[in-house]
Amino acid sequence: MIKIKRLDIALTTLCNFTCKYCRGNPGERKKIPFEEVRIILENFSEYALEAIRLDGGEPFIYGNEIFSIIEYAARKGMTTGIFTNASLLDRQIVKRLQEYIGLQLFVTLHTINEKNEFEATLNGLYLLAEYKILPELIIVVSKKHIPTIRPIIHSLLIL
Ligand code: SF4
Repeated sequence: MIKIKRLDIALTTLCNFTCKYCRGNPGERKKIPFEEVRIILENFSEYALEAIRLDGGEPFIYGNEIFSIIEYAARKGMTTGIFTNASLLDRQIVKRLQEYIGLQLFVTLHTINEKNEFEATLNGLYLLAEYKILPELIIVVSKKHIPTIRPIIHSLLIL
């Protein structure tokens, strides 16, 4: 029997950030309706799918239905990972995220050279740290980023 370990789902092409190299297509901004995601998971569960990863765009633009996806996946025995820029996290969302055992968060630090956007990401990281949720951090390294990486890592170490 064929088994599939992981399925990545781009929930939306919408994002509140504007990274130059983003693969999102601003001309076709849209979200996948929850019912379609549910049908995808239903079909892939036949292949003993172990894990899903939600990305976008920014998955938390998807709204509360993201929790319906996490819960539906859990009922099907799948764990969930979410790629996020963390800027839309608030206390209510983080408290809910804390409830899901096995949930993985991957926080992207793509905007380290954009002061306001990076501050919003840092605020999300502080909130996650407060609730003892430890995300993996992801950064796209470019020549422009190199001088800023060391100070950023040091500022993150105090989280
Ligand atoms: S944060 Fe991610 S999804 Fe949003 S614009 Fe940047 S690369 Fe694209």
